[in-house]
Amino acid sequence: MLEDRTIVIVGAGHAGVQLAASLREEGHEGRITLVSDDPRLPYQRPPLSKAFMKREAEADALILRGPGFYEQKRIDLRLGATARSIDRAAKRLILASGESIPYSRLVLATGGLARPFKVPGAEFAGVHVLRDMGDAEALRDRLENSRGVVVIGAGFIGLEFAAVAARSGLKTTIVEVAPRVMGRAVSPAISDFYAGAHRGFGAEVLLGAGVAAIDGADGKARGVTLGDGRVLPAAFVVVGVGVVARDGLAREAGLDCPNGVRVDALMTTNDPDIFAIGDVALHPNAWGEREMRLESVQNATDQARALARTLTGKPTPYAALPWFWSDQGDLKLQMVGLMDMADTFVTRGDPASRAFSVFGFRAGRLVGVESVNKPADHMIARKLIPAGAALTPVQAADTGFDLKALAKAAG
Ligand code: FAD
Repeated sequence: MLEDRTIVIVGAGHAGVQLAASLREEGHEGRITLVSDDPRLPYQRPPLSKAFMKREAEADALILRGPGFYEQKRIDLRLGATARSIDRAAKRLILASGESIPYSRLVLATGGLARPFKVPGAEFAGVHVLRDMGDAEALRDRLENSRGVVVIGAGFIGLEFAAVAARSGLKTTIVEVAPRVMGRAVSPAISDFYAGAHRGFGAEVLLGAGVAAIDGADGKARGVTLGDGRVLPAAFVVVGVGVVARDGLAREAGLDCPNGVRVDALMTTNDPDIFAIGDVALHPNAWGEREMRLESVQNATDQARALARTLTGKPTPYAALPWFWSDQGDLKLQMVGLMDMADTFVTRGDPASRAFSVFGFRAGRLVGVESVNKPADHMIARKLIPAGAALTPVQAADTGFDLKALAKAAG
């Protein structure tokens, strides 16, 4: 029956494209329709704030799959097509064009949006966010033609952009309301190290600094006024204050969306024929022991792979260990596990050498490792954590202790 075999995917980011590919690998023979509101061939997002921003890679190098892939795998890729609503009773996805596409299974892989920043002046021209290729192109131009930038928010994306800006010689000021950088995701030691590193790249880093307004003239941003009255002039402003789930489509269709589309371990929503994966999915995380949304390529692609198995008759709960990376200047940060669960942190190696790791333990159990320019520690940690290896904080901090041997023994 054709109807049972039609899978429609909304969103062609890392999650949607991986799902389409994995469905074919898992033997799905039926129709796959991949709906993308972006007119470009689906592309990778991480390089937008890294190689692409530095002009080390152009747009062509970022595409996830070549144009021939979709044809060869019989994936009906609809570019520049926005999904407007879901008719759950009739099992149809309605596009902005009015076209209605029948589905037997619908997957929402709609990602996120830059969190809106509600201060006076946020609407001025020259206030940028960085979420898609268009945003990155606009910022790349500004980097070449401007004298100074204020980056609001010291999360991963803001800091990656700030590193490129400062190292290119642009006067760069980073303004963060929290007392430390990347505070929601990393240990205090990593925050301290990175605040220092960004100062070394040439940026001014202001912590515990709230923004009162974005200043402007003639409709154009001219800088930022802080809560304490300080004025920071700038030619443009980058706002990187987080990501919100793009769950409007699901919400309007009556799906449960407290903060993203709520799914179970099989990525199923409260409608058994509708699923959600990637940045938009509020899922029960096996490692985090709670419901969460994760914003990473690993999470998007691993959820897609698990769902492809489930949709081809091999129910596979999502249980992958989270990992993430961020490139800032000459520093490669790699993280595995969930550091916000840790109650004890130890440092392995000397931060002054710009190559070290921080190990996080909870009640004596290793729950996360952050590595700076230490890819070997990261790879070992990806074995140690799932194996539940018996590592003590004292051993982790001792650079003479052989982690590799422990990982090997732990299998
Ligand atoms: P997305 O990639 O956001 O894709 C969702 C797609 O759905 C979008 O193309 C969107 O336009 C489309 N869409 C939404 N609604 C509709 C609709 N109604 N109709 C049609 N289409 C729709 N992660 C890392 O792990 N490491 C990094 O170093 C890293 N760096 C990053 C740097 C930047 C600048 C950004 C923006 C993100 C970065 N990330 C990084 C995060 C990572 O890119 C995301 O976690 C990942 O893209 C999530 O994939 P996704 O498919 O869930 O969502």
